[in-house]
Amino acid sequence: MESCDVLVAGGGPAGSTCAGRLQQAGLDVLLLDSQIFPRQKPCAGWITPPVFDALALDADTYRQGRVLQDIENFRTGIIGGAPVVTRYGTTVSYGIRRCEFDHYLLQRCCVRRSLGEPVTTMVRHDSGWIVNGRIRTRLLVGAGGHFCPVARLLGARIGREAAVAAQVAEFALSPAEENMSSVPADTPALFFCRDMKGYGWLFRKGNYINVGLGRMDTTHLVQHTREFCTFLQHHGYLSADLDGRFQGHAYRVYQGQGGRNCIGDGALLIGDAAGVAHSHSGEGILPAIESAMMAADTIVSAKGDYRREKLKPYADSLTGRYGAGSEKVTPLHVPSLFLRMLGARLLSSKGFTRHIVLNRWFLHANQNMLNSKQH
Ligand SMILES: Cc1cc2nc3c(=O)[nH]c(=O)nc-3n(C[C@H](O)[C@H](O)[C@H](O)COP(=O)(O)OP(=O)(O)OC[C@H]3O[C@@H](n4cnc5c(N)ncnc54)[C@H](O)[C@@H]3O)c2cc1C
Repeated sequence: MESCDVLVAGGGPAGSTCAGRLQQAGLDVLLLDSQIFPRQKPCAGWITPPVFDALALDADTYRQGRVLQDIENFRTGIIGGAPVVTRYGTTVSYGIRRCEFDHYLLQRCCVRRSLGEPVTTMVRHDSGWIVNGRIRTRLLVGAGGHFCPVARLLGARIGREAAVAAQVAEFALSPAEENMSSVPADTPALFFCRDMKGYGWLFRKGNYINVGLGRMDTTHLVQHTREFCTFLQHHGYLSADLDGRFQGHAYRVYQGQGGRNCIGDGALLIGDAAGVAHSHSGEGILPAIESAMMAADTIVSAKGDYRREKLKPYADSLTGRYGAGSEKVTPLHVPSLFLRMLGARLLSSKGFTRHIVLNRWFLHANQNMLNSKQH
């Protein structure tokens, strides 16, 4: 039987970050992912600069042979309404392709892995686990995204919890379409639903277009996406035929104590499995990486004793970082009636758009960052 100290279920940004850190600390790590990499992940692929800091990743190194789109401006508004363009005059975000980004991180972490092998069974054995009937491990790290089997093991009621439901399409523009495209690559567009329960985006990364829509309210998602696309096409933002190109996916935004239980005896959850995406923007890649770093710290400190109480510092770190409750007023999280009524008005204000929507909700200008030196 194969064995390891820690088995990481899932090789997305959370799994590869945690696995790499644990291996650097001298632990014997095995990572399983149900897919062969490079693999597609439904995502807009927008990341903020702290992602590079947290991963100690050099943007120019990453850029070699991969798409890394600099973002300097945003076009924002209400679907159907007039847009506001906010300019920063410097790079404030980036666009990546998840098939490239996740593959790069997984290769970089250099951890023993079995790809194309889903975690299917986890049976308690002594103080550890037997996984898939063939691997003995002392600790399970659930990094398998929203539908992670380790999350189910720790009590997640997958499919019956509040979640963001989203649809996205990403495709290469043909050379002719590229010449005709009116979407500036450094200016992604974000258009909020009139009820403020979600937003759609149109995002160009090199010669790839990414278009999608996410909502806290899962009903009529397809209809909202269709209306958004009609709006984009009507205003000349998009001419490509999108039929059959959309993929759907779900994930949870962080809800503190109202969210998923992320620790148990011999098991913990990180990234989307734990439900840590930012509630304001739906950004999940940075919190996935941060949660992986915090989990790795706790695991190393636990020195092989992985009882629930020894893993509690990780749960405390999440609360310390992201808060204990879900009281925040957000566009993705159901907003107050006040915001809903005034949404269209506020989003036509250049000051509100720059300082609240973009700087605070999307770019975290008011938040200290975890970085690789601290962790
Ligand atoms: C449409 C959409 C758009 C988004 N856009 C953005 C964005 O622009 N920016 C941003 O920051 N966030 C975005 N997010 C959120 C972001 O994609 C997630 O928060 C992020 O991918 C979480 O990373 P993760 O490593 O936790 O999980 P994932 O990236 O989902 O990785 C999980 C891995 O686990 C594997 N897996 C699943 N089941 C098993 C199993 N049983 N056994 C083994 N492996 C398994 C999967 O194959 C996958 O490789 C978006 C989400 C959606 C749905």
